[in-house]
Amino acid sequence: MAATYPEFIWQNGKIKPWTEATVHVMAHALHYGSSVFEGIRSYETPKGPAIFRLSDHLKRLYMSAKIYDIVIPYTIDELAAACREVILRNKLTKAYLRPVAFRGLGGFGLSAETPTEVAVATWEMGPYLGPGVLEAGIDACVSSWQRMAPNTIPTGAKAGGNYLSGQLIAREARRLGFGEGIALASTGLLSEGAGENLFLVFDGQLHTTPASAAILNGITRHTLITLARENGIEVIERDMPREYLYLADEIFMCGTAAEVTPIRSVDGKPVGEGKAGPLTRRMQQWFFGLFDGKTEDRWNWLDPVG
Ligand code: PMP
Repeated sequence: MAATYPEFIWQNGKIKPWTEATVHVMAHALHYGSSVFEGIRSYETPKGPAIFRLSDHLKRLYMSAKIYDIVIPYTIDELAAACREVILRNKLTKAYLRPVAFRGLGGFGLSAETPTEVAVATWEMGPYLGPGVLEAGIDACVSSWQRMAPNTIPTGAKAGGNYLSGQLIAREARRLGFGEGIALASTGLLSEGAGENLFLVFDGQLHTTPASAAILNGITRHTLITLARENGIEVIERDMPREYLYLADEIFMCGTAAEVTPIRSVDGKPVGEGKAGPLTRRMQQWFFGLFDGKTEDRWNWLDPVG
């Protein structure tokens, strides 16, 4: 089935037709993975369409770029304006936004001084892991692929090259008939999903893997930690062994794309009762409540599009 694309994209300071936003085949990023990007969602809210934690996502984009010495020739405010503009021009409300900055054409060596190209795309996106998963949950497996070891490729940067790891994990899981793969770190301890952070529930407490467990420090993860603590739920960031996946009362994954997705089984073993558990449901209510107005946005996380 041919994909359909939105009409407009922002590229290097200008709005262009989607089909004209092209890149040279010798762009550095295409060969060496030297891109940094973000995934951001906008939601329909009672106050109109709003982008969720836009400035936090853009700050992380600049942090990822800093790690790789990629100089982004725009300010955060300019990229924020570009994000709003592509949503408005494409007449979208509930959308996914993809800012990307990458090393362009400018030499052939690994350390070549390349110009930075920047684009912001947007498109409509439903639940990332498939229709109905937010209610039914997914069947996950532990991947045979580990995440990157410390001091190899930094997992705290959201860089294009990192997603070779994510592709191995996600594609293996799908090939074996699972909804998503969960990776271990090089320590053999739990890390995260192919593109999602991980929460386990034990006795009404939330346990999530720490930044040192080869995870991307997720903004949804931070959102959920904040909402849980606000509601009196204890959250513990800690290393956990693989077998905790088989022992937890509840497990869910989270991310901008995955939002809050329950995990109903791991490696064929049911998690709890084999369906979304009560704390997972409450986390979903608090999270999605930010967008329908049932959860007060005390942190100014919603950035109006208009
Ligand atoms: N881990 C990985 C590897 C990811 O790609 C993502 C999605 N960006 C996440 C975690 C979740 O991060 P966030 O909540 O900031 O989208």
